[in-house]
Amino acid sequence: MPLPALTGLTPDVLAAWLKDAGEPSFRAGQILAWVWKKKVRSIDAMTNLPVALRAKLTDSFRLTALEHTHTRGSPDSTRKFLFRLHDGRYIETVLIPASPALYGERSDRRTLCVSSQVGCAFGCKFCASGLAGFSRNLDAAEIAGQVLAAEQLTGERVDSLVFMGMGEPLANLTNLLDAIQLITGEPTLHLGARHLTVSTSGLVPQIRLLADHPQQIRLAISLHGATDAVRQQIMPVHQKWPLADLFNALDFWNSKKSQQITLEYILIEGVNDAFEQATLLARHARRIHAKVNLIPYNTVQGLEWQRPPDSHCRAFRDVLQHAGVTATLRLEKGGDIDAACGQLRLQQESREGLLP
Ligand code: SAH
Ligand code: SF4
Repeated sequence: MPLPALTGLTPDVLAAWLKDAGEPSFRAGQILAWVWKKKVRSIDAMTNLPVALRAKLTDSFRLTALEHTHTRGSPDSTRKFLFRLHDGRYIETVLIPASPALYGERSDRRTLCVSSQVGCAFGCKFCASGLAGFSRNLDAAEIAGQVLAAEQLTGERVDSLVFMGMGEPLANLTNLLDAIQLITGEPTLHLGARHLTVSTSGLVPQIRLLADHPQQIRLAISLHGATDAVRQQIMPVHQKWPLADLFNALDFWNSKKSQQITLEYILIEGVNDAFEQATLLARHARRIHAKVNLIPYNTVQGLEWQRPPDSHCRAFRDVLQHAGVTATLRLEKGGDIDAACGQLRLQQESREGLLP
């Protein structure tokens, strides 16, 4: 195993390490500032630390867990970063410049789409991340490190985060919460919890646990079907937690949090795009005071699904809007780079023979 990464140490863990190493506790703040605020590229660059402490740190830690290998896109458009992990696996992180005002953000802000696992075990039938199965959880350094790396690579500040990259964040809850502590903490990245959105395919027990978390994190649900019959065709997770259980958990969420839930709804031609689904989706959204984000399906190599024509997507949105629901629809074809998370990593891993 490689050395642990400094970017994965929460302040209390770092303080405990310093104590064991016989170092004064105020060094914790200095080290965290070098890592997260000054964003140094080496432990040796932490010039206000004694040389002996830098040597001890170097013997015990790597600075970061991510090796940047590739960027696609340009500064004024969506950029996709590919990172190699210590075991040779790849993850991707996507920086979206002017995201629509979906998650409570102004539209001139930068949103980072972060991965939480290598692959995904939930096997939704339409999703590239589910295609190659599940490899492993990301640790806190690998999750929070994506934000630090994106800021380092671009020199820009990330304004908001969505956990909508590869993986199911709520299936990796312990590491996710450590990463959130690093991302929101003052000695570390200090991004407001309200600017973080966790997206889930609907893991009911974990939704309840996160509802009890003291921070006002936002929640997005990958619904993709307004009835059990439609949802179970495309999302195996549905067998375990059908819509009634899911919506009970969302009621509980609403009793604990003040931010509006977002219902994500991919539009897949002939699968979930009938107007009856729109009517029922509107009913669900109104009952739990959620907004709806409609996403025309991004085609995935090897899968037969298609997006409906633009006119149909607009008409589907209009059904929701006429029912008084806030519904957004993005029609521009960001296809290859913007969404369809998981594809760049799949290409890279298959080139290197890492996939079965
Ligand atoms: N596992 C979590 C978060 C990662 S997926 C979840 O399912 O919510 C992030 C979002 O991308 C989900 O809403 C997912 O359904 C959507 N998605 C997956 N494949 C897609 C595709 N080919 N086109 C459009 N959206 C897709
Ligand atoms: Fe996993 Fe989410 Fe993709 Fe489903 S949509 S396979 S839960 S990443």
